[in-house]
Amino acid sequence: MADGTSANPGTLPSVGRQYDAGPYLPRHGGLGALRRAAAGCQGCPLFEHATQTVFGAGPAHARLLLVGEQPGDQEDRQGEPFVGPAGRLLHRALEEAGLGDEDTYVTNAVKHFKFTTAARGKRRIHKAPNLREMSACRPWLVAELRLVEPEVVVVLGATAGRALLGSSFKVGEQRGVLRPMPALGEDPSDSWPGQLLATVHPSSVLRSDDREAAFRGLVGDLSVAAAALA
Ligand code: SF4
Repeated sequence: MADGTSANPGTLPSVGRQYDAGPYLPRHGGLGALRRAAAGCQGCPLFEHATQTVFGAGPAHARLLLVGEQPGDQEDRQGEPFVGPAGRLLHRALEEAGLGDEDTYVTNAVKHFKFTTAARGKRRIHKAPNLREMSACRPWLVAELRLVEPEVVVVLGATAGRALLGSSFKVGEQRGVLRPMPALGEDPSDSWPGQLLATVHPSSVLRSDDREAAFRGLVGDLSVAAAALA
């Protein structure tokens, strides 16, 4: 069974090794430099089985920045975030909320696809990243946020929420409400005057028993972000 968590001892001994993307970050440059450097990241074992790093995409000074969990199967193959079924649903929800793609930067909390392969066939099944992998990958997300400095950040689902709001974050309790952008480091002043809003991940809408109600909920939360940007 292929598993996005298993390390290849030849390239990255996971036992006793600290997972951290930090050493791969460039000291200078904009989003282009970050994207190029992220393509070679081996900060945790997830790079080994994924096809490629899927970095964020969008305008360098977008007013809205969306953070998902990790690339899915289609994103991994195409190298672009939010191009699979959940991404298509998200774009529809953004449109209904009055938010256009032209001023939106999209990225993920974790930049490599984590998966297991079904016992029969070659279907790759998404696996949620664990805390070590999320922490390892966080320097890329923080660097993107610092460069883009959007007016509103929307975190989509629990993983993205935990990456920016801490491990106690629960999307069901904290969705749909604008709050000041939290500090990105230990210094409380390490932020900018933006706002953050949490909502569900679009893949949860696809899994919902009542897709229409779940979709309406997502659009409703995104409409709060749209009103803040109006
Ligand atoms: S998931 Fe993040 S930290 Fe891990 S190898 Fe990929 S880019 Fe680096």
